[in-house]
Amino acid sequence: MNKILDFLTLERGDDFCNRRYIVIKFALLSSIVLFSLFIFINLFMHQYKASVIDFISAFVAIFAYIYMQNSKNIILTIRIATFNIVIFFLIFAYISQAEHFSLIWTIFVPIFAIITNGKRVGLYFSLLFYAILFVLSYHYINVWDSGQWLFTDWMRLVLASTVLTLCMYIYEALLDKAQQDLQRARAKELQRTKELHLQSITDQLTGLYNRRYYDNMIVKLAALAKRQNLCITFFILDIDYFKLYNDNYGHIQGDEALIEVAQVLKKHIQRGDDFVFRLGGEEFAGIILSKEKQKAQQWASQLTKIIEDLKIEHRTSKISEFLTVSIGIATLSHPQENNIGLLYKDADKALYTAKYNGRNQSQISQESN
Ligand code: GH3
Ligand code: MG
Ligand code: MG
Repeated sequence: MNKILDFLTLERGDDFCNRRYIVIKFALLSSIVLFSLFIFINLFMHQYKASVIDFISAFVAIFAYIYMQNSKNIILTIRIATFNIVIFFLIFAYISQAEHFSLIWTIFVPIFAIITNGKRVGLYFSLLFYAILFVLSYHYINVWDSGQWLFTDWMRLVLASTVLTLCMYIYEALLDKAQQDLQRARAKELQRTKELHLQSITDQLTGLYNRRYYDNMIVKLAALAKRQNLCITFFILDIDYFKLYNDNYGHIQGDEALIEVAQVLKKHIQRGDDFVFRLGGEEFAGIILSKEKQKAQQWASQLTKIIEDLKIEHRTSKISEFLTVSIGIATLSHPQENNIGLLYKDADKALYTAKYNGRNQSQISQESN
């Protein structure tokens, strides 16, 4: 069974289109075989008109199949195939004159039309088919089947066909609904997964990327820098005397100061390939890719002044009346997988020097190449 399904399913779209694709492919292949067979049976039985109709229908089915294989336009193929079947069964009904229970074949019309075209267009095809068939078969009451086709037979045909069409319509509508529910649930799940991922790489307090994301990105950005022949500049920014700030103004105000610093960082370092992170506590970091290392280093250095200019009062700081930061900067002009770890080490060392030299300043690592 799986092998048959694999053969029928050459391409996999969403479930809904795939289901139609399988049905139309199976229907076209089986109708080509059946129509071709009946060409010869009817020729053998001297039913020439019928064999001409079989020939035309087989021809249209082959055309639709080739068209579908080449264009992958399933919808148009379905419309052509349904139209073919509607016309075929109307002519078939007219020729066979309801003999030997032949109208039973017409049950395929609403089943095929609704499953492949969907409930609305399928219903239109079915209504068109039955409107003509009912008028035709009513007209020939007491004539068809050598006069055996009676009003009661016609009523049976009308009732059974109507109930069958309605059932197919409801079935398809329920399937549509299930499909929509599934798609909605999938979209929700995808959204939730994205949210969870974002949460896992974001620092809750400041909204900046967190340490985990830094570990991830630094490797990717280094590879990007290497490919594009760019320098990679990394800086660590640490708020000066932040413990004293917390002690004096309280933890909540401390959090607000962290948020304010984070916003400044985000605003200042905002190009597509640049990233800022909160490494933890009152320590932030940034990665800047650039052609010339001096430009990126200057750009990062500006942050000391920008943050001091925020004029966040810090009465207990030993170096300024406002909140200040110290920055350690390191650059790799030729980043490689094996030297990327140096960036952090060098920037940390430079930060230590900045602190040691009196804080509220930036230092560029001497090791930067
Ligand atoms: P230095 O100039 O040498 O960097 O001194 P410092 O006081 O800033 O450094 P230290 O490492 O001694 O203190 C860091 C402080 O940062 C300790 C803690 O009170 C504060 N801190 C860390 N995380 C948070 C946070 O999430 N919220 C707040 N409000 N404070 C934090
Ligand atoms: Mg500090
Ligand atoms: Mg610190």
